[in-house]
Amino acid sequence: FSINMTQFQLEEELGKGNYGTVRKVLHKPTNVYMAMKEIRLELDQAKLNAIIMELDILHRAASPEIIDFYGAFFIESCVYYCMEYMDAGSLDKLEVGGIPEGVLGRIAGSMVRGLKFLKDEMQIIHRVWTCAHNADWLDLTVLDGFADVKPTNVLVNKKGEVKLCDFGVSGQLERSLAKTNIGCQSYMAPERIKGESQNNLGQYTVSSDVWSLGLAMIEMGLGHYPYPPETYANVFAQLTAIVHGDSPELPEEKFSEDARDFVRRCLMKVPEMRATYAQLLDHPFLAHDRMRNVDMVGWVTRAMSERDKKARERHQQQQLLLQQQH
Ligand code: ADP
Repeated sequence: FSINMTQFQLEEELGKGNYGTVRKVLHKPTNVYMAMKEIRLELDQAKLNAIIMELDILHRAASPEIIDFYGAFFIESCVYYCMEYMDAGSLDKLEVGGIPEGVLGRIAGSMVRGLKFLKDEMQIIHRVWTCAHNADWLDLTVLDGFADVKPTNVLVNKKGEVKLCDFGVSGQLERSLAKTNIGCQSYMAPERIKGESQNNLGQYTVSSDVWSLGLAMIEMGLGHYPYPPETYANVFAQLTAIVHGDSPELPEEKFSEDARDFVRRCLMKVPEMRATYAQLLDHPFLAHDRMRNVDMVGWVTRAMSERDKKARERHQQQQLLLQQQH
């Protein structure tokens, strides 16, 4: 079926990303809550049509680890992309204080199965486009991805389900987005930063996504991005550390040797040495995790109340500051 704007009742804003705003909406004909992402693009109608057509293949992406896609339409120069609403939001906001090992195992299992599905069934790997982003001090061509494997793109619901969103399927959409600059947190593999990520057929290789997965896991385990901006004078120093420094590790005090080895196998500097998805699924960390009882629902409840408490405190502090200024 096809969807359009008149069928929706708009609810609250869920978040802002690099490329647009995501809003909770009620699809009135079906009475289903959805998340609607608005992406503003200065493109002609033909290109917008091409994007809508390309996005259509997402209807085939039915898997428990992938966010359901309900449809897309455009109005003027905005693409509206409608997807499954995840009522606990993205992992970047739930990881505060660090995610415990059992929960991290469940998340890793879902991410690996989701990424493997996208690769095997949909031939999607998180592609990147070269964008000559030559800031004066940055004599380096950086590749920017429309969709990196990163905690903002992993969504959770109150049932404790973990699903991936925001992966590139529309070449036209990605080319249109790739003009934006790089963020201050890079999940790109060293070979991607160096611009060597294509194999000799000119294809991007899946092992770069395995790096991003490992880095996302470190971030979730620590509760913060492992190359923090306070440590590096600028993005160049940060990228240099990713390319030339030792790979980050999960801390010994909080994580088992299995968990640490799993992440180590993702963060090998040489892409060919990294584990494949099949190897990761067989890794003792995930094998043991499947036999463990993990209270995902309890963890989501606690993490959400912690997140909301922090948000209220931030809001109160801002109000206080505003009052003092007046
Ligand atoms: P980015 O561009 O950084 O990947 P997005 O534009 O995809 O971010 O999303 C911005 C924020 O909106 C996310 O961090 C998340 O909190 C929220 N969000 C996105 N998609 C959904 C969804 N399907 N359900 C609930 N919240 C969502």
